[in-house]
Amino acid sequence: MARRTKIIATIGPASESEAMIKDLAEAGMDVARIGLAHGTLDEALAKFARVRAVEASLGRPIGVMVDLPGPKVRAGTMPEGGLAITENDEIRLVPSHTDPSTASAITVDHEGLLTDLHIGDLVTFGDGAAVAVVVDRLPDALSARVTHGGLLQGRPGVHIPSDRLRLSSPTADDLRMLDAFVEAGVDMVAVSFVRSAHDVRRVGVEPHPRGPMVVAKIETRAAVDNLDSIIEASGAIMVARGDLGAEMPLEELPHLQKRILQRCITLGRPAITATQMLESMVSAPTPTRAETSDVANAVFDGSSGLMLSGETAIGHDPINAVATMARIAARADIEFDYDAWGAKVHQIASTMQPKMDDTVTNGMTNAAWRAAQETGAAAIICVTRTGFTVRSIARFRPEAKILGFSSDVQTLRQLKLSWGATPFLLDVDYKAPNLVARAVELAREAGEIRRGDLVAVLSGSPGYPGQATDTLKLVPVV
Ligand code: PEP
Repeated sequence: MARRTKIIATIGPASESEAMIKDLAEAGMDVARIGLAHGTLDEALAKFARVRAVEASLGRPIGVMVDLPGPKVRAGTMPEGGLAITENDEIRLVPSHTDPSTASAITVDHEGLLTDLHIGDLVTFGDGAAVAVVVDRLPDALSARVTHGGLLQGRPGVHIPSDRLRLSSPTADDLRMLDAFVEAGVDMVAVSFVRSAHDVRRVGVEPHPRGPMVVAKIETRAAVDNLDSIIEASGAIMVARGDLGAEMPLEELPHLQKRILQRCITLGRPAITATQMLESMVSAPTPTRAETSDVANAVFDGSSGLMLSGETAIGHDPINAVATMARIAARADIEFDYDAWGAKVHQIASTMQPKMDDTVTNGMTNAAWRAAQETGAAAIICVTRTGFTVRSIARFRPEAKILGFSSDVQTLRQLKLSWGATPFLLDVDYKAPNLVARAVELAREAGEIRRGDLVAVLSGSPGYPGQATDTLKLVPVV
C-alpha cells in the first residue's frame, strides 16, 4: 500500500537549493514549508520559485505552505558555539531588538518584556531547550533562575505565556509578507499564535482554492479553548507542539494532540502534527526509538500530515530525515485501524448539522465510504473543484485509494495536504457528459486502477443548484 499520511518538510539553509528540493520531493515531501521567521522576504520568495521550478521538472504537484511567524519573540544571537545555562544559574533577560546575547545578559526582542512578564512566570527557550522562572524585576532587566538547563544556539525562540503577550496575530509584518506570497500564488498559509476565529479571519485572503488555504497553528491556551470555532474558520490545523508544549503542562500534550486531531478530522479539515518528530536526526543518522514511535503514533492519532522542521531546515541530512519519516509513516499506515476510525466518524457525522451544500456532499461521501467498504472498491474517485469532496471522504480514512480530479492546479496542490489523496489534473469540463468515464480512464492510464476493479466515483451533476457533490456511481473498470 502506498503511504497515505502526508509529509511537510521545512526548507532552510540545509535544503534550499533546487537540487535538494528535488531530492526531498523524491524522498517523499508532499508539501514544502517556508518559514518567514528568518531571512528576508526576497530570499523566501526565491525558495518558493525554486519549489515551483522543481514541481515543473517533476510534472506533479508540490504544495507550498508559508508560515507567518506572528508575534514570535526571540533571543538575540547567541555566542559562537552556543550559550550553556545550567540549573539554578541566575540569568538576566534584557529587552533589545539589536544586541546579541552574552553570558551576562540574554537579550530578548520584545519591548514589553519588563512589564509583560511577572515574577513566577516560566520562560521557555527554543522549544524546551532550557527553562527559567522569573524571580526579580530590576530597573532594566528581569532576573530569572534556570529550572532546566541546556545549550542555547542561534536565535532561539523565547516562549512567553500567550495571555501575558499583548501582541495579536497576524501582525502587520505578517500581512505585508503574506501579500507578496498571495501575489506569487502560494497554496497554504500557516498562522502562528492565533487565539480565536477572529484572528484566523484577519488573515483576510480569498477562500481557497482561489486564495491560500489558511492553516491555524494551535499553540496558545486560548486556541485550545476556542478550538471548534478556529477549525470552522480555517482550512486546516497544525498541532504546533513546540509552543503548545511551553504554553500547557507537558503531560497534557499527548492528549491535546489526540483531541485536536480527532476534532479537526471529523470536521473535514486536514490536521498536521508538528515539531521534534525526528529531532535527533538534526545531527544523527537514525532517529531515537521514542521518535520512531512518536511518528507512528501520530499516524494512529489520525494526523493527515507530519511535519519536519529543523530536521530538514538545518539538519545534516534532510533527505534521510524525509525518507525515514516516509518509511515509518507508510508502515504505520498499514497498521491503522481503518474500520474503527470510519465507524466513529460515521457516528459523529450523524449528529452534526453543517450548512446545506456541505450536508449534501458530506452525505454523499458518507455513502461512498460505506459503498466502497461493502464492495471492496479499489478506489474512490472524486471530481472536485475546491477539494472539499476529497477532504470530506478523507474524514473516514477509507482503505480504498482516494483519487482527486480537478482542473484547478491550486486545488491539486492543496490536496497534497489531504490524507490519502492523490491529485490528478482533469482535462474535461465539470459539465462534460463523459466526466465520470474520463476520470476513470485517466485513473486507469495513471496505473492507479486496472481492468476488473470496481471504483466509486463522486461528482456533481450539472443541474444541481449551487455546487455540491450529489452523485455516486459504482463503476466497473473495463
Ligand atoms: C511549533 O511551535 O511547534 C511550530 C511549529 O511553530 P514554529 O516552528 O514557528 O515555532
